[in-house]
Amino acid sequence: MNFTNSEKLFKEAQEVIPGGVNSPARAFGAVGGQPLFIERAKGPYIWDADGNRYIDYVLSWGPLILGHTNPTVIKAVQEAATRGTSYGAPTALETELAELVCEIVPSAEQVRFVNSGTEATMSVLRLARAFTGRDKIIKLQGNYHGHADFLLVQAGSAVATLGLPDSPGVPKGVTQDTLTAPFNSLEAIEALFKTGGDDIAGIILEPVAGNMGMVPPVEGYLAGLRQLCDQYGVLLIFDEVMTGFRVALGGAQEYYGVTPDLTALGKVIGGGLPVGAYAGRRDIMQTVAPAGPMYQAGTLSGNPLAVTAGIATLKELKKPGVFDKIVAGATTLCEGISAAASAAGISLYQTQAGTMFCFFFNDQPVTDWDTASKSNTRALARFFHAMVKRGVYFPPSQYESWFFSTAHTQEVVVATIQAAQTAFAEIAEDL
Ligand SMILES: *Cc1c(COP(=O)(O)O)cnc(C)c1O
Repeated sequence: MNFTNSEKLFKEAQEVIPGGVNSPARAFGAVGGQPLFIERAKGPYIWDADGNRYIDYVLSWGPLILGHTNPTVIKAVQEAATRGTSYGAPTALETELAELVCEIVPSAEQVRFVNSGTEATMSVLRLARAFTGRDKIIKLQGNYHGHADFLLVQAGSAVATLGLPDSPGVPKGVTQDTLTAPFNSLEAIEALFKTGGDDIAGIILEPVAGNMGMVPPVEGYLAGLRQLCDQYGVLLIFDEVMTGFRVALGGAQEYYGVTPDLTALGKVIGGGLPVGAYAGRRDIMQTVAPAGPMYQAGTLSGNPLAVTAGIATLKELKKPGVFDKIVAGATTLCEGISAAASAAGISLYQTQAGTMFCFFFNDQPVTDWDTASKSNTRALARFFHAMVKRGVYFPPSQYESWFFSTAHTQEVVVATIQAAQTAFAEIAEDL
């Protein structure tokens, strides 16, 4: 396989863009080598600048649940573009997407659209503080909520991949109201509530962690959080930027039957264009300006192209049988890759929640950041390059989730499993 053009493009990019990428997870820091520059995509495939084709399990890090260039989505966006790309005034499209979100996501009674997941979590926590009149928030170790200053504390995703400490540039004062606890421990939350309950506005978490690899909640964890939050008057906030419309159509809150007070959304909700949102109880959402006093705004928020892509995606996704079929395909792939690893004598700890999944090179169960971080990242790097060579692309890090789409057919799944069989055999010799 030839990567000459990607190499040349990466050199040029590094001259004018820090590290050559516009989001750190795109660099190949954790696996070595250099990022592939992508030229085009279709269905389950992406093509790099050297014409190499890959089956894609990154899917823009989650949003593309209908695969690349879904004809319905593309047509809707093209038509919308001819009517104007932005007005800075309300449109019926925004109401339509908000109605869809309220119908699909159990906790959503009202929705405010923003442009990214980062904006969604930042805004939803301002709202939690405004509504409760309290300053402190709890976030969990290895959970990632975007790059807002006060959330860059023991964060997952590329922060974990690159082994970065809490980022320089974040003033100490900004994180002093951010408390942390391990994922999947109710005792740790109860201890924080007991000592500081009256000062805590909310706890924000990924109900299924997807930014330290993919780690599901243990039995009873989310229900236990709900109960503790009710007991101490703390708002329960699910960051479903990744899990929304992915763990189940209605997100992790539908799958586990636990309804948070507020929810942050992103990724799938924009169908591949930039949309984020926060949603929740009407009485809380009424605090947001201009209904209430909490200020939050955006020049391009509710952008007609982005909202159109979101509407087309959610409408397609809620057609009978569509979501279940994606989950079934993902399950077949997970089973096939796990079996291929066993056959090669490689220990994998495999997780799946709906259309998200992950393979930890780890012989112990992974339940939190401590256990996730004991994975063999060198083995993951070897596997990554062995799969790229065979035309399969997945996140270049142990601490990210894989994603599946409607475009990943049985044939694509079989091809991926076959690639994994020979890749594992190749790397097993010197792990
Ligand atoms: C991706 C992600 C974010 C940040 O969203 P951006 O659109 O990248 O700003 C926040 N929370 C979670 C759980 C995410 O996976």
